[in-house]
Amino acid sequence: MARRRQLYEGKAKILFEGPEPGTLVQYFKDDATAFNAQKKGMITGKGVLNNRISEFLMTKLAEINVPTHFIRRLNMREQLIKEVEIIPIEVVVRNIAAGSIAQRLGIPEGTRLPRSIVEYYYKNDSLGDPMVAEEHITAFGWATPPDMDDIVHLTLRINDFLTGLFLGVGITLVDFKLEFGRLYENEEMRVVLADEISPDNCRLWDSKTNEKMDKDRFRRDLGKIEEAYQEVARRLGILPEAGSRDMKGPETMQ
Ligand code: UDP
Repeated sequence: MARRRQLYEGKAKILFEGPEPGTLVQYFKDDATAFNAQKKGMITGKGVLNNRISEFLMTKLAEINVPTHFIRRLNMREQLIKEVEIIPIEVVVRNIAAGSIAQRLGIPEGTRLPRSIVEYYYKNDSLGDPMVAEEHITAFGWATPPDMDDIVHLTLRINDFLTGLFLGVGITLVDFKLEFGRLYENEEMRVVLADEISPDNCRLWDSKTNEKMDKDRFRRDLGKIEEAYQEVARRLGILPEAGSRDMKGPETMQ
C-alpha cells in the first residue's frame, strides 16, 4: 500500500492525509491509555473492533440525520473521514453515576441520575483535561453560543438513540464522551460528530449482571478486556467475519 503522509498521532489513533482534499484516513491502534496517559498498555485487536463498532454506530446515527465526519471504512483498521476543525471540548453525557462523577460528588457508582447530565472538559493533555462550564467555552472562544446549541442538541439526540440501541442488545449505556468538529462545505459551516464512539469512550454494562464491557476493564485491571470489546461487537451483530485471526495487527491491512 502506498504510504500516506501522517498528520497526527494520538493515544489510540493516527490520522493520515486522505486520498482527496478535505478527507483524512483514521487508523485505529491497539494502544490503550488511561488516567491522562499515566497508565499505558495494549489491547490486542482493539483497533479492529473499535473501527468496526464506530463505523456501525456512526452509520446508524447518520440514518437518523446526525451529521458525522464518517465517510466509509477502508479496511480492518482504517476509515475514511471528512477533515474537520476539532472543537477542543470533550462532551461527556452521563445517565448513571460512574467514574469521576461518582468520586467527585460522592454518588455510589451505579446510581441512576435524576436526568441525563452533560459535562464539558477542555481538551488539553498538559492540564489533564479540566472540567469547564459553557461560560468558559464561549468566553475563551473555544466554541460560539450557536456551536454550543448544536452540540447540546446533537448530544442529547445521540444519547437517546444510543441508549435505546444498546438496551436492545442487553447493554446499559452508563456514560460516554463525544467530540465535535466544524465542517466547512459549500461556503457553509456545520457542527458534526467527530472522533469515534467505541468501548474506549463509553461505559457499557451488561444490563442483567452490570458486568463492565468497556475500557474500565483496562483502567481497573479487571482482565478479559479483548473479550469484553468483542462481546460488544458480537451483540451489535458486527463481529469481523474471519474472527480473531483478523485482530492481530497492521499486517492484516488491505
Ligand atoms: N472519557 C473519555 N476520554 C477521557 C475522559 C473520559 O473517553 O479523556 C469517557 C469515559 O470512557 C467515560 C466517560 O467519558 O465513558 C466519563 O468519564 P469520567 O469523567 O468518569 O472519567 P474517567 O474517570 O473515566 O477518566
